[in-house]
Amino acid sequence: MTSTAQVGVIGAGPAGARVAELLARRGVDVLLLDPKAPWEKPCGGGLTPAVFEDFPDLMELYPIARSLTEVRVELQPELGFSVHLDRPLRIVPRQALGAWQLERAVNAGAWHVPSRVRTIERGAPGWTLETDERRFRIRFLIGADGAASLVRRVAAPELSVELAPTRVAYPSSAGLEHDRVVLKFYPRIAGYLWDFPRPGHRSVGVGVQSGTWTRPDLDQEIDDYRRSRDHCSCLGLPRAGAVIGTGQLGHGDFSCLAGAGFALLGDAAGLADPLTGEGIHNAMRSAELLARAWSRHGADDYPKLAHATFAREFGASRFARRVLLESWLGSALIHRCLSSNSAYAVMHSILNGVNEHDGSMSRLFGRALRAWSAVRMDRTLAARGGRDVAPCSCASVELLDHAVTATGICGDAQSPRSREASDCRPPASGQVKLNS
Ligand SMILES: Cc1cc2nc3c(=O)[nH]c(=O)nc-3n(C[C@H](O)[C@H](O)[C@H](O)COP(=O)(O)OP(=O)(O)OC[C@H]3O[C@@H](n4cnc5c(N)ncnc54)[C@H](O)[C@@H]3O)c2cc1C
Repeated sequence: MTSTAQVGVIGAGPAGARVAELLARRGVDVLLLDPKAPWEKPCGGGLTPAVFEDFPDLMELYPIARSLTEVRVELQPELGFSVHLDRPLRIVPRQALGAWQLERAVNAGAWHVPSRVRTIERGAPGWTLETDERRFRIRFLIGADGAASLVRRVAAPELSVELAPTRVAYPSSAGLEHDRVVLKFYPRIAGYLWDFPRPGHRSVGVGVQSGTWTRPDLDQEIDDYRRSRDHCSCLGLPRAGAVIGTGQLGHGDFSCLAGAGFALLGDAAGLADPLTGEGIHNAMRSAELLARAWSRHGADDYPKLAHATFAREFGASRFARRVLLESWLGSALIHRCLSSNSAYAVMHSILNGVNEHDGSMSRLFGRALRAWSAVRMDRTLAARGGRDVAPCSCASVELLDHAVTATGICGDAQSPRSREASDCRPPASGQVKLNS
């Protein structure tokens, strides 16, 4: 049986569900295909204040979000400090975000079919999509199918997206004394470990630049962290992993984001932030840009709009990643923060400025100055450095049923993207190497 639609959106994550909603509201006949949505994608679910500024409707999720105003930055358990966030970071379970978005898309008139697209063929005009059960003919194809995008492979194979491998575990949050995010950094490695308290559990994960660590390395890093922090020897929590599609987009590459009869959004387009790996915001922004372009010239303007929106930010993020994460400077700055108020003020301004999208140096220095004056001289190492030790919280949270690994995991031989996703090296000696 063949069904038809004007637009076919593959993937109902933050990008796909949003664009389906926006186009359906404009009267477009939209088919939205995703076998899993809404699901608990392996993801921190961290949303910075800028996301809510750009998408105030997301504030409806406040009641189920965990709101956090303290970040602990560390290199080692005993080598770190805490920074107050002027505006909270909110952590939202992905299943809840997905359910909220999907409902809006369907209410707007999008037709959701819970099936995986197996093959995509270009026709004249339009595309033919095949799932296990049926076949669809569509005029315009939107690839919002995540970092390992099938649409990208078919429609824009020339677009190179960096796939950063990650692993996540979900221990219970029982016994945690503090409501704070922990970010652990590694000298000269573009990546970090996060520990995000969520409602009822924690998301403890680590993600690094592709080619840095293997999957066992990443798992080992989570175990080491939990052993040192939770004083817990029962480490066999179920895990999940996925890749993040981060922005390699150079000046000309934005033109690959759309072409004859197709467009790519979110991680499929490599739009996650190259410094932080944060991608929910940019996925939703790309959906807005495509919908705006659609109202004018049927998506032709989308690459131009995407370039105007993201190019400068990605340039700044890549620069910050080189300077702060890939060089010695970031870890040196963390060391300095323990003894110097000026260094601490700079770190305060960086953490409070992440994802503000103002990018300008004058704003950064202005923020650093304000932070410096706010940093009281009596904020000594002890005041900054307090850390919470959680008692054993082995009661793992049953999230992983749906945290399917099909989007490709570093070292996962069954993943369709495993080769691209995991140009990982085998571990040197079974040990994680912190300094390369
Ligand atoms: C471990 C981890 C932690 C992260 N933490 C954060 C964070 O804290 N904050 C943040 O902002 N970002 C975070 N990110 C990044 C964020 O998850 C992504 O950038 C974001 O989800 C991208 O949204 P998207 O809609 O483009 O793709 P996705 O959310 O990946 O959605 C893609 C959808 O496409 C569907 N799909 C795939 N293939 C097919 C197919 N063939 N047919 C039909 N459907 C298909 C999938 O089922 C999926 O639902 C994290 C990522 C990872 C991996």
